Amino acid sequence: MTLVQLSRTRPVAAGSGAVHVAAAGELVDPQARRVQYLRLSLTDRCNYRCTYCMPEAGVEHRPRAELLTLEELGLLVRAFAAWGVERVRLTGGEPTMRQGLVDLVADLSDIRGARGRLRVVMTTNGSRLRELAGPLRAAGLAGLTVSIDSLRADRFAAITRRGELSEVLAGLDAAAVAGFVGVKINTVAVRGFNDDELGALALWAWERGHVPRFIEVMPMSGGRLFVPGELLPASEIRARVAEAAGAPLLADAGEGVRGLGPASYWRVSAGPHAGRLVGVIAAMTENFCASCNRLRVSATGQLHNCLARDDTGDLRSALRPHDPGLLAARVRAVLGHKQAGHEFHRDGRGGPNKAMISIGG
Ligand code: SAM
Ligand code: SF4
Repeated sequence: MTLVQLSRTRPVAAGSGAVHVAAAGELVDPQARRVQYLRLSLTDRCNYRCTYCMPEAGVEHRPRAELLTLEELGLLVRAFAAWGVERVRLTGGEPTMRQGLVDLVADLSDIRGARGRLRVVMTTNGSRLRELAGPLRAAGLAGLTVSIDSLRADRFAAITRRGELSEVLAGLDAAAVAGFVGVKINTVAVRGFNDDELGALALWAWERGHVPRFIEVMPMSGGRLFVPGELLPASEIRARVAEAAGAPLLADAGEGVRGLGPASYWRVSAGPHAGRLVGVIAAMTENFCASCNRLRVSATGQLHNCLARDDTGDLRSALRPHDPGLLAARVRAVLGHKQAGHEFHRDGRGGPNKAMISIGG
């Protein structure tokens, strides 16, 4: 096992070409990529059944007693922050279904780590934002991503199998009132379903000050939910957005725009929408693994090196009871096996057996 344990400050090359400096005790993987970003699943439950995420019959849920408690989540995130993690994304399942979410956000937003105050953000289907946006903002939530695959109510209901678009739009209004700006809108691009709407989605998002982001569909769940013909490559996604914007898109390398996540950002080059940004998450056709800076923890406390692989390590037993030394050893042992990248193939082979709902996108 290659375990990179740093005894002094040294530069680490990130895939984007940027050089990040890792300090003693920070988490660095065998490819010399520093871990900056933790994606934390709060629940394996969801009130929707998106076709690409979850089988219609649902998935087997872990008993509630197996979920990390709010206190355990706080201990875990404090440890990661001390090891240099700068951002935590709360996800699921649907994170707003988790009892105590607002208290958890308040607790985590208070954390000062090795790199300063932790930034806590969340990805949600938006169905409960109408009542939660205000309290979450007041608790310190720094950013929101809301998933919307269609602006047509019938299509939205069809892809989520039980969602109501009007609820989500009301949630976005509440988020604006609460003071969230630059909300990211995640849209999974599915050929034959919403490919005729991508331009309209981008224009709609820009008009409201949101940042549209389009995601290539990935073959999770052993490829069982993946339909190869539905994959819309990033190049086509950009072409559709450029057509709607009336001008070419240029790659945007601006610091602070790209963020810490997997999206590449593109800017409209001219015309009435000049300067507008669109994000593309293209795991299938524009591999971004070289700049991976992420780890994931499931709601039951399993540490995952990669969305696209099934290897995990148990952290819950190091939190219940809390054993800081064991926790550190487990995290570093798992990280020591992090591979260079995923093995997704465009025909649906190579993905993990786990379902997206069990770990969060
Ligand atoms: N429930 C929340 C939501 O939908 O935003 C958070 C969890 S969801 C798993 C996170 C993101 O993953 C969503 O934007 C969703 O659209 C995306 N996603 C789910 N399954 C996917 C798949 N097979 N390929 C690409 N993106 C997927
Ligand atoms: Fe639920 Fe999000 Fe998965 Fe849709 S994508 S089923 S909203 S977890």
